[in-house]
Amino acid sequence: MQNYINGRWQNTTGTSEIELINPCNEQVLMRYFTASTQDVDAAVLAAHQAFHSWSLTTPLERADWLNKIANQLEKVQSKLIELSHLNNGKSSEQARVDVENSIHCYRYYADLVQKIAFSQITQCENGTELIHQKNPIGVVALITPWNFPLITSAWKIAPALAAGCTLVFKPSELVPLPEYEFTKMLDEIQFPQGVFNLILADAVAAQHLVAHDEVNKVSFTGSTEVGIHVMQAAARSVKRVTLELGGKSPILILHDANLDEAVDKALGGMFYNSGQMCSATSRLLVHQSIADRFYQKFKAAVESMTLGADLVGPLSMGPITTQKQLNKIQEYLMIAQNEKLQSLIDLNQIQLPKLGFFIKPHVFIDVPTESRLWKEEIFGPIICCRTFESEEEAINLANDSDFGLAATIITGSVTHGKTLAKRLRSGHIWINSFQMIQPNSLWGGFKKSGVGRELGESGLSGYLEENVITI
Ligand code: NAD
Repeated sequence: MQNYINGRWQNTTGTSEIELINPCNEQVLMRYFTASTQDVDAAVLAAHQAFHSWSLTTPLERADWLNKIANQLEKVQSKLIELSHLNNGKSSEQARVDVENSIHCYRYYADLVQKIAFSQITQCENGTELIHQKNPIGVVALITPWNFPLITSAWKIAPALAAGCTLVFKPSELVPLPEYEFTKMLDEIQFPQGVFNLILADAVAAQHLVAHDEVNKVSFTGSTEVGIHVMQAAARSVKRVTLELGGKSPILILHDANLDEAVDKALGGMFYNSGQMCSATSRLLVHQSIADRFYQKFKAAVESMTLGADLVGPLSMGPITTQKQLNKIQEYLMIAQNEKLQSLIDLNQIQLPKLGFFIKPHVFIDVPTESRLWKEEIFGPIICCRTFESEEEAINLANDSDFGLAATIITGSVTHGKTLAKRLRSGHIWINSFQMIQPNSLWGGFKKSGVGRELGESGLSGYLEENVITI
């Protein structure tokens, strides 16, 4: 594996080796050396040198390139799905959704960039003329985690290119294969040299990238813990930052909810992608009056789940992506045991495959609010449930978290759901739906879930710096 710098594949000069393992069968896929800080310097220099010409391209020219990327993604879809399955453990069904969503994202920004007024003139009554301008921020560093390859990167790469920024992209060192293929694709379409640079780096080189003087902005998606380091390092040179961090999102099931719908949304909101979602609705709050009937149906559904590689349907679950993450989830199960949390389901009903980083889904009920499982992001298939008597109590419980990324409300009255939604301190709220994110919506969190917003016009604004000329 090589880095892609200034339109050329270049050998890494780093000495730290990473082993990629297929999470479905624990077989080694490959080993590679990660980028050194010198490789990072070369990538930043290339982006810096390419900035002037790329920033002068017209919105239409940039839109053309974004559409070319989307067209090319469509052509290599099956390869990307295969690599996502191999490297991340996703089923082909879920990997296909990722690729399709990333294509939508490139097309969305290709369209949006043509509608934005990058320069606007106002003639004032006092005779002055104002020219408001939106300028690309400059060289941006884009850093992504391993749970949604191609999507988390599309949410950054598409608006950054649309804005006229040049970039250094660092995907997760643990799941680099889909984005490596994406870069090959850019090379094939002869994307302008130096505008897009890929470095396959670990935390050391990533830190160097974040602190680099020639980087004007960092857009980071990952854990809150690392996000805090990124923000601190960026502060030294007053870099702009967008941080998409962790979550511990609630799902509120109101007294008038349709129970089958509630089960469906609770399952998908928690166990899709094996629970490895920043926005997983992992704190379930159900109205006391329907709790017994809901729990009965939820228990039956979870106990009927099948674990395995490349399965189809909402009642199936693939592996955890890495051994390290599997260990972390198992540590939380030990805590649950020590805290004597009550399991809703009979785990014997679910079969565990012999090989692979699989873990059974877990549902705990009546979880105390002081429990670490209630408070902390686990990033695996563990859901904690509580009942509530009044909606006031539900809102307080939902908002009582360090995080504020997402929330779901299941209700028979959408009108009432909208009123309740206004009181939730979360960046994205679903009413009677789950984990559905459109490119023209908005993504980002309150509190420790992040800083700034991705997607929609806000996503593009995140790569623009405004100024004004007064004449
Ligand atoms: P992580 O924070 O360990 O790593 C994320 C990325 O940061 C990786 O590419 C990693 O190599 C890099 N990195 C590590 N140390 C760094 C440093 N010191 N400086 C700069 N970069 C560094 O997260 P992860 O385990 O890859 O992903 C899981 C986390 O990501 C979860 O907390 C999840 O909630 C979060 N996430 C958030 C969103 C969102 O949109 N809010 C989306 C997906 C994942």
